[in-house]
Amino acid sequence: MRIDDVYKSYGDERVLHGVSLEIGRGDVEVLVGPSGSGKSTLLRCLNRLTEVDEGHIFLGDVEVTGDTDPDEIRQQIGMVFQDINLFAHLTARKNVMLGLQKVRGMGEAEARDRADAELARVGLGDQADSYPAQLSGGQKQRVGIARALAMDPKVMLFDEPTSALDPELSNEVLAVMRELVDDGMTMVVVTHEMRFARGAASSISFLEGGEIVERGPPDRMFDDPRHERTKRFFESIS
Ligand code: ADP
Ligand code: MG
Repeated sequence: MRIDDVYKSYGDERVLHGVSLEIGRGDVEVLVGPSGSGKSTLLRCLNRLTEVDEGHIFLGDVEVTGDTDPDEIRQQIGMVFQDINLFAHLTARKNVMLGLQKVRGMGEAEARDRADAELARVGLGDQADSYPAQLSGGQKQRVGIARALAMDPKVMLFDEPTSALDPELSNEVLAVMRELVDDGMTMVVVTHEMRFARGAASSISFLEGGEIVERGPPDRMFDDPRHERTKRFFESIS
């Protein structure tokens, strides 16, 4: 996917200030940076949860920011948030089936099979009949991942998917994400999990003040950050 000179403001506050980024198929871009640097806003622009003020975003030949149906874009670009947003009155299976039936128009039996396959893929084959309240935070996040994957997305966006979880539960979610990486999924990931970033990223972008201050391969960014701000950031988290 290609992000070309994107600007976004909220009122007088400039949140994204000329962001450009090219993410190849199967690549994993990890976005890091201080709170308020625009990471979530950038992700939201990528799947049209937020409209850009200026600039263009492309997924292959399709302009995400163009005259396209946002719902169509959101099927192709799945997103997993920090806050788990499952329907409490539906089982894990039904949560995954919902989009397949409502958006894809899939029949019940087919949607059920697909949901069960995606739940198995995230290690929840035996939890399909559980309600969200019966699941741990890590399991809920994995249902959220299964729900996004069921739509056959070309790209997956993750916005701090483990920030609300204990380390042990974080690890199950990170393991699922690592499998997606190994399967060749194109991913854009905002995370504070530096071990994941180092091991899984094709490239790390450091954002501050709505700009990409520095970008590079993970080993280089960790071992030899060049920009003063990037140095300070990596020192503060290590
Ligand atoms: P990050 O994810 O890096 O912490 P965000 O993209 O969430 O940063 O936010 C960047 C800035 O934009 C913050 O100052 C935030 O307050 C502001 N912001 C984000 N979303 C909105 C919104 N819907 N309305 C007004 N301001 C917003
Ligand atoms: Mg954020």
